[in-house]
Formats: sequence, structure tokens, C-alpha cells
Amino acid sequence: MRVIQKLATVIRTNLAIDKAVYDEMVNASRQALPIEACGLLGGSFGRVTSFYQLTNTDNSPEHCSMLPEEQFAAVKDMRQKGQRMLAIWHSHPATPARMSEEDLRLAYTPDVAYAVLSLEFPENPVLRAYTVEDSTPTEVPVIILETSEASSEHAQ
Ligand SMILES: [Zn+2]
Repeated sequence: MRVIQKLATVIRTNLAIDKAVYDEMVNASRQALPIEACGLLGGSFGRVTSFYQLTNTDNSPEHCSMLPEEQFAAVKDMRQKGQRMLAIWHSHPATPARMSEEDLRLAYTPDVAYAVLSLEFPENPVLRAYTVEDSTPTEVPVIILETSEASSEHAQ
């Protein structure tokens, strides 16, 4: 609990992700192989507590496109929970957790983080997050929160 409350003071500079959400992202990315998985992350106060996997309509190992109607449905679900979209995520099946040139070109807003999960080393997934402004990425440190009980205490 106390650790979580302290994290609230550094939300501008970190993306805190509940371990359960991180595990879902890793599992979804592994199951999608060899294509990229993608989706959205929701939460509040910079802390991610909701996981959404969306259809990769590109069905590609190097690209990811999401259906607008699935994005709207996910964002609507977040709002109903009193949350907002904190990050857009996708996996890189075989390349590092860096924003590709295409990722940067498609990053349309500086208001969310872009999270990339690399399965380049299958046993050691690497998750990095960035904000993007004018196609320039700035890394946002990711913190994985191992706090299953705290999420129910904070549930609204
Ligand atoms: Zn990418």
C-alpha cells in the first residue's frame, strides 16, 4: 500500500503496470506468435490495471493495426470503470523493444505511452514504454507492481 501511494507522486515520469496486466501482455504476445499482438492499457493516476488485446488486422509479424470499433469499445469500458487509456501496446516477435520508424510515424498522440514488448529472447521478455512527440521517442521507465491485494483496496 505505502509503496503504491508513493508511486502516485512519480506518475509523470513512470508507467506503473500491475503484474497481472504484465503477465496477460506476455501471454497474449506469446500466443499471437509469429504475428504481433496489440492492444490498449487502462488505469488511473498513471497506474495500469486494465488489459485489452485487440485484433491485429494486419495479421503480420512486423505491423499492427487495430480496429477502430474495438478501440472505441475498450475505451468505453475504461470510462465505465472510471479509468482512462494510459498506453497503447504491441509486441515485437523478433526485434528489440524499440519504437520502429513506422511505430513512430503512427504514434498519433503525446498523451499516452507506447509500450513495446519484445520476445526477441523468448524466455526473457523485455517491456519498454515511450512517449512520442514529433516522431521523437522519450523512454518512460516501466515499473511492474507485484501487488495483487492492493488492486482490490484501490478498486472504485
Ligand atoms: Zn513496433
